Amino acid sequence: MTRLLVERCEVVVTVDDSGSELAGGSILIEDGVISWVDTGASPAAADERIDGRGAIALPGLVNTHHHLYQTLTRARAREQGLFGWLVELYPIWAGLDAEWERAAARVGLAQLALSGCSTTTDHHYVHPAGAGDLLEVEIEAARELGLRFHPCRGSMDLGAAAGGLPPDSVVETTEDALARSREAVERFHDASPGSMLRIAIAPCSPFSVTERLMRESAELARSLGVRLHTHLAETLDEERFCLERFERRPLELMDDWGWLGEDVWFAHAVHLDEKDVRRIGDTRSGIAHCPSSNLRLGAGIAPVRSLVDEGARVGIGVDGAASNEAGDLFAEVRQAMLVSRAPGPERGLTARDALRLATRGGAAVLGRDDVGSIEPDMRADLALFAVDDLAHAGAEADPVAGLLMGGPQRVRDLLVEGRPVVRDGGLVAADEDEIARDGHRVAARIAEAWA
Ligand SMILES: [Zn+2]
Repeated sequence: MTRLLVERCEVVVTVDDSGSELAGGSILIEDGVISWVDTGASPAAADERIDGRGAIALPGLVNTHHHLYQTLTRARAREQGLFGWLVELYPIWAGLDAEWERAAARVGLAQLALSGCSTTTDHHYVHPAGAGDLLEVEIEAARELGLRFHPCRGSMDLGAAAGGLPPDSVVETTEDALARSREAVERFHDASPGSMLRIAIAPCSPFSVTERLMRESAELARSLGVRLHTHLAETLDEERFCLERFERRPLELMDDWGWLGEDVWFAHAVHLDEKDVRRIGDTRSGIAHCPSSNLRLGAGIAPVRSLVDEGARVGIGVDGAASNEAGDLFAEVRQAMLVSRAPGPERGLTARDALRLATRGGAAVLGRDDVGSIEPDMRADLALFAVDDLAHAGAEADPVAGLLMGGPQRVRDLLVEGRPVVRDGGLVAADEDEIARDGHRVAARIAEAWA
């Protein structure tokens, strides 16, 4: 057995049921699983130690929505809303290939890791003919860096010719989308406890899929025991599209198509009425809250506090870097806290509320009960953030709140399954400079082809 002791942290933020915080706390990890969390002397001798002094220990952050391939197509359609932005970007994304996917996934995953994210999903719905298995490419990138990964096999089967928004060049046939989704689950999904790789099935959005793909994806996912994910209620354009095509609002469609429940999570959920919010809460459906993307595209602000109060499972997501314009999960958690306060301070999120959504909330959204808090028997996914540096001088009154309220920062140490992914602010298994060079090289090729 290997024992690792993370000792004498400034504060261990456990995110347990009672929100315990242990000043001077230590964490003992045995074979990748937390076995003890407390102050004082460790109950067993450790083979390895990490000095936690000057750092706050959080559960590793969980990212509930992303499109890694978008990482290399940023700063485009800069003044557009969602539909205009998509129409400008779809033809570029039609050129996606394995080299692009690999470079983009490595840049995006490295950014996530360096912002304290230990578990991430990815929603991959662009599969140009002849591009190969792009899901496999990103799975390989997550393995290389050491992150826990929940990629979604996404799909689109409603092209412009049939009344959808995407050009026909980026959609699949319904049959292919379903067959490839089944294949992805059978090939990659690992349901075992502590799993590093789980697959979800994820048709893209109401304006890019057919009713048949939605209904049959739900049946398929349930027969295979995997989760369902899609975009929902992101913009008023989407709501108008649904009313015109189906005479129903987005959430009503989901209800009709069997797309509500504990095994479903939606990205965005901005344009909901009170009945929608209650229905999501009653069915314990999940939400990936992506505030930066929503602000950047002028989509609106999701009713996060109401969703939480009604019983929805809510996590934070960065969304793709073509709309977030970054891939920093820690920054996104702060953004969620800040934007929740825009209507007034009374119903806004506290720093600790936001951290809870980003850890246990995200784990619940992804159906994990083995990550998201620092407690015995949980997998050892930990993010240590330094608070003894220049940026935090002056936040001594409440270093935990000060950490989040103070803004984005690079994680000092990140452990996933007890293994070091980031050490002293640098990636352990990969060379950050090489990933950056490769990202710039491939992005330059893309920019040249689609100036
Ligand atoms: Zn998205």
